[in-house]
Amino acid sequence: MINTMEDVIWGFSEKYGWIMLDRTIERNRVGKKKGLMFVCCRDLTLFEIDWNEWLSPLYFLAEKYIESLNSDSSKQTVVNAEFDAIKARESEFRDLYNCIKEEDEKRRTEAIKEKRIKLEKRHRAFLEARNINYHGSSVVLLSEKPRRITHCYNCKGSLDSKNDLGCNACKWILCDCGACGCGYNE
Ligand SMILES: [Zn+2]
Ligand SMILES: [Zn+2]
Repeated sequence: MINTMEDVIWGFSEKYGWIMLDRTIERNRVGKKKGLMFVCCRDLTLFEIDWNEWLSPLYFLAEKYIESLNSDSSKQTVVNAEFDAIKARESEFRDLYNCIKEEDEKRRTEAIKEKRIKLEKRHRAFLEARNINYHGSSVVLLSEKPRRITHCYNCKGSLDSKNDLGCNACKWILCDCGACGCGYNE
């Protein structure tokens, strides 16, 4: 059984020796099934496996592995001490994730940028189709967002505050469909 309440899961495999999974890392969170990033404690490297593989007989929870050695009590004692020494180095292993955190953050920023570019394209197309002058759009801070009606007059979709681009001319926050206040009551 896997304790999903722990921040860190310790394991053992023939291939990697002692391994650790930091569950506070976004891609390792409870519920994530693909591309979990484990630490190989012996090599101080990260490696990726899917949840299915982790559940396979090739990997043991550390406690289960130690338990499985109970027919050889002297080995069990040695391995137990080894595991204690490994656990004491937890922060060292967790530091290995720092490069991933940066990469994840970069990926998130890229995704936001891409989303804005696509929305801006729809905004331009929306205005051009109506022969309305296009003045571009700007990123609006959440605290500065003007009020807007709850449903888009154009696409009838509901307007929540997930977008942060406002039309430079009318100052409305753009709808996913690209609509702004410039096309209202046309
Ligand atoms: Zn809309
Ligand atoms: Zn506008």
